[in-house]
Amino acid sequence: MEHAKPDILEVRPDSLAAWLAEQGAPPYRLSQVLQWVYRKMAGSFAAMSNLPLELRSRLDGTYTFPTLKEVEQRRSQDGSSGKLLFELEDGEQIESVWMDDRGRYTFCISSQAGCALGCSFCATGAMGFGRNLRLGEILGQVVALARAATWPANVVFMGMGEPLLNTEAVIPALEALADPQRFGLGSRRITVSTAGVTPGIRELSKCAARPKLALSLNSPFDDQRSQLMPINGKYPLAEVLQACREYAEATGRRLAFEYVLLGSLNTSPSAARAVAKAARDLRALVNLIAFNPVAGCSFQPPNGDETKQFKTVLEGQGVEVTERFRRGRDIAAACGQLRGKHAQGPPAAAPRQGTAAAVPCERTPAAPCERTPAAPCQGTAAPAPKGTARHRASGHDDGRR
Ligand code: SF4
Repeated sequence: MEHAKPDILEVRPDSLAAWLAEQGAPPYRLSQVLQWVYRKMAGSFAAMSNLPLELRSRLDGTYTFPTLKEVEQRRSQDGSSGKLLFELEDGEQIESVWMDDRGRYTFCISSQAGCALGCSFCATGAMGFGRNLRLGEILGQVVALARAATWPANVVFMGMGEPLLNTEAVIPALEALADPQRFGLGSRRITVSTAGVTPGIRELSKCAARPKLALSLNSPFDDQRSQLMPINGKYPLAEVLQACREYAEATGRRLAFEYVLLGSLNTSPSAARAVAKAARDLRALVNLIAFNPVAGCSFQPPNGDETKQFKTVLEGQGVEVTERFRRGRDIAAACGQLRGKHAQGPPAAAPRQGTAAAVPCERTPAAPCERTPAAPCQGTAAPAPKGTARHRASGHDDGRR
């Protein structure tokens, strides 16, 4: 969509400096404007109180702010997470989540409206693909979350969409997040989560921001992973793991595997041993995420023994393991859940900034958030009797990665 005025979040500092110089503004005005936009999270040029009125007016006549219309905002009952639903100017809707882990905030943002990858446990995948987000729409989520929660925070690309299928906007967004003149986040505070798009991983390795990389693994077996994550048919696991290895070598960043535990599907000792081998090989951390049951979805959460045994096998092989807490159940925190619910009409007790209707959350908060599976399930991978192909196969974790 064409914009009459450029989005201020899409204007590079050198371009803004040139424009300010054309206006006859002294050089220090650049840092003032950048402070307002990226640190004070101003929502208008009128709010930039230390700028001359005339300059504010010229800025307003030249640039605009992101057009993210907040449709709904929810906050979990315990106050540890919140979710924002936005409507874009063409009517597409996207979600963003903030999570507070004992004062350590993480923002989980979307890179696409919907998703084309169709992972069988993911609410966003069930919606299909809308479009790629623009740079301003990606960064606008960060600004909105900062206003709703706090800043600075970790930022994870684990919301709606596959970020490495929108590198045209995601890579400039990563650069803006890491740029000391703009958001100024240390690159260790930025994570990109992928379902396994190998060309995108290789492109990302050239990005100056050098974010952390998380692979939504969910199964160490190609047949099983392909059932859960059709993208595995295009980029098989060995190829994806090789790209991850190259990424770690090129950036020095430690990898993470995200693994959503689906009861009786991807929790076998043989799966755990295979995950452990891959993790050891790549020196990757493994994040385990218990799937949350969702109405209409045939996947089941793991029982306590499954989770414990899986974790024990990994740790026994010397792999560092974390377990994600289920947070945000009451805010529909998993990828695509709130948008899906909103599309069905407001929930019975639908709240803005308060309590919320109960909805299972998969995507796990905790920093970094995991791209999570969730509801509604597409129903293509129902648990099958032991010994069947489907049973042998289960797996992506995720949460969305
Ligand atoms: S888990 Fe991620 S990649 Fe898979 S369908 Fe959902 S949003 Fe897309």
